[in-house]
Amino acid sequence: MSTKNKFELHEERLATTDEQGKRVYIHPESVKGKWRNRRTYFYSFLVILYLVLPWIHFKGKQIILLNIPAREFTFFGTTFFAHDAPLFLLIILGFIFTMGLLTSVLGRVWCGWGCPQTVFIDLIYGRIEQLIEGKARARQKLQEMPWNLEKITKKGIKWFLFTLVTLHISHSFLGYFVGTHELFKITLSPPSEHIGLFSIMLFVTGVLLFDFGWFREQFCIIACPYGRLQSVMMDESSLVVAYDKSRGDPRRGSVPTEEEGDCINCYHCVKVCPTGIDIRRGTQLECISCTNCIDACDDIMRKLKRPEGLIRYDSEANLEGKKVKKIDTRRVIYCLAIVTVLGLFIRSILHLDDLQATLIRAGRAPYSEKIINDKRIITNLYRLRIDYKSSTKNEIALSIKDNKSIEIFTRKNPFKISGKSSKDILIHFRFPQNLLATGSAKAKLIFKNIKGKKLLEKEVSLVGPLN
Ligand code: SF4
Ligand code: SF4
Repeated sequence: MSTKNKFELHEERLATTDEQGKRVYIHPESVKGKWRNRRTYFYSFLVILYLVLPWIHFKGKQIILLNIPAREFTFFGTTFFAHDAPLFLLIILGFIFTMGLLTSVLGRVWCGWGCPQTVFIDLIYGRIEQLIEGKARARQKLQEMPWNLEKITKKGIKWFLFTLVTLHISHSFLGYFVGTHELFKITLSPPSEHIGLFSIMLFVTGVLLFDFGWFREQFCIIACPYGRLQSVMMDESSLVVAYDKSRGDPRRGSVPTEEEGDCINCYHCVKVCPTGIDIRRGTQLECISCTNCIDACDDIMRKLKRPEGLIRYDSEANLEGKKVKKIDTRRVIYCLAIVTVLGLFIRSILHLDDLQATLIRAGRAPYSEKIINDKRIITNLYRLRIDYKSSTKNEIALSIKDNKSIEIFTRKNPFKISGKSSKDILIHFRFPQNLLATGSAKAKLIFKNIKGKKLLEKEVSLVGPLN
């Protein structure tokens, strides 16, 4: 079916696909207005935050460091370890419930104002594109022209600049996981010395380049899980970017002039939309609440000397003249869940033990066997990770509780540990094979201080041959 105007969209087709189902690349026009200015300021703040945060240190530690191989996670001077995993679960739950509440009240505010994809494309990649290829119409023309020197040059410069920016972003991203100081040292040495990390960096750069440079709104429409979930988190009282049909319709050209609404069918709201949709058709999954259409329409309304806000932030309930629910069961449940998670988190933080230990099986084989004095003696090797959070030095002695047949051997026992530090110790658990009645046995490792006070107890699984 042909359309009258290229911006008048097909009723049953995505704005980003043609009759053959191929992608229609969107070239949104740039827009000026109060929401545009607010977003530029906010995005600039976020870009600086995303890129600068890993370089900031607090209490001698990187402010956010997610050291996955060492299972150490530092936030604002406090380091959490693998055994603090329940705290992470609480952080994730808190984030999910907060997003649920935010979406329920403010709609897709995250997509339009906080999502790194929106922020980087709008503030950096889109601007580079406009600088090299020109405004929307020039970009469209360039895309449609056959490959010639001009097209090759412009596309080449654009993708070169995209690559430089993406390399910077991917290095900053890796800085959160590797540590920026470490990363800086690594970048000065040849890639062959850290091929794994180099491969990860190339992979991240490739994915970001593909997404921010080319895939763009397709990710929001096809792949983003939050985009899919938002429809169940929102209701008619949620704030959305919406067209006021009661004021705008009937549109120009469809009825006698005196009966016309405020919408003059200029399609400005469609031309500036980064996902190519027509918001006058109601709230749609593709809308990322970027506010471009608000500014575009306000500009038209000002020129027509009509009130602004034909497209605005509003709830569907308000637009339909219904009562807007400020409080409903869903929002109350989200609030209760957030308060509960926050309470549990604070309680867990306050009750974190000064001494925490993790035992991880070490060595290639689960056990080794020797005959000593005609007895089959089994050895299990463990790596003990100790995280000591108190600021005072301590001396710790390890022993086995209530089982004299199990012996432990370490390089030093008791050992000293300085305040606020971590230590890795290898421990050999040695025991007779006949202890393994069922192929495994349990031992309790006791941690005592120099005065003999028990600080911690950890259960260890010992394994060996059944016969
Ligand atoms: S920009 Fe405003 S006036 Fe123009 S088509 Fe959109 S809603 Fe109608
Ligand atoms: S409809 Fe408006 S708010 Fe939604 S994505 Fe398009 S321009 Fe942005």
